[in-house]
Amino acid sequence: MIEWKEEEPDIKVLPWDKFPFDKLKIKTEQFYQYIKDYNYIFFKKEAWENMWNHGKSSYNEVGGLFIGYVYQYNNDFIWYIESIVYNNDLIHSTTHLILFPSLWQKANSLILDNNGNPEKFIIGWYHTHPNFTPFFSITDQNTHKHFFNFDYSLGLVFDPFSERFTIYKGKEMELYKDKIKIIDLF
Ligand SMILES: [Zn+2]
Repeated sequence: MIEWKEEEPDIKVLPWDKFPFDKLKIKTEQFYQYIKDYNYIFFKKEAWENMWNHGKSSYNEVGGLFIGYVYQYNNDFIWYIESIVYNNDLIHSTTHLILFPSLWQKANSLILDNNGNPEKFIIGWYHTHPNFTPFFSITDQNTHKHFFNFDYSLGLVFDPFSERFTIYKGKEMELYKDKIKIIDLF
């Protein structure tokens, strides 16, 4: 269960022709092969590991935001989660978590370029259900609907101890059943 206080993310989907193929660390054909194989969510290794380490650091619920990019790809989206952000401004227990606006402010400071324009975006959120089934509770659903109500918003919930996780996408919180790829794209 998670509650958020105030602040809404400012995110935008990018057209596919804005994808930075010049920065891609893997071969373009390999990248397209991953997409063909139903990998639509890409996690930078460090972001994935940091998220799990954050979860494992506490027997209480913890959570944070996904920072990265989302691209429109035909009728689908391609996500690249480049980093996570969290802070210690929270109230939590084994079954409950409240996060505060300072987290959004921290995230916003990370996504703006020198001119104050966003160069990456808050594309979703994660939180833990320690030793409990990773699913969206009613409170989680309300949080998602309120703060992450874009077609491409992601919500990930995980149990850091059983290592199970569930991903929801979009404002209707559809279960994400495709694959994720842990890889440094750029
Ligand atoms: Zn929850």
